[in-house]
Amino acid sequence: MAQSAVQPTTAPTAVPAKLPVSAIAPWAVFFGILMLVLLYFVGAEQGATSLLSGENVHEWVHDARHLLGFPCH
Ligand SMILES: [Zn+2]
Repeated sequence: MAQSAVQPTTAPTAVPAKLPVSAIAPWAVFFGILMLVLLYFVGAEQGATSLLSGENVHEWVHDARHLLGFPCH
């Protein structure tokens, strides 16, 4: 009979930290608004819906507009 001199130990298991929804919600709202603003500038900042005069913003996001399939020209 062979017996091990070392007692088997259980490896510590990783327990995910609990994040309450109330801690995540403000960040989710913030990044949601940020993404909507970005989506506006990529998709609708042109012509009649333009907030900023000139073509600078449109030219900066022009490739992203085509990549995402927004109508352009
Ligand atoms: Zn275009």
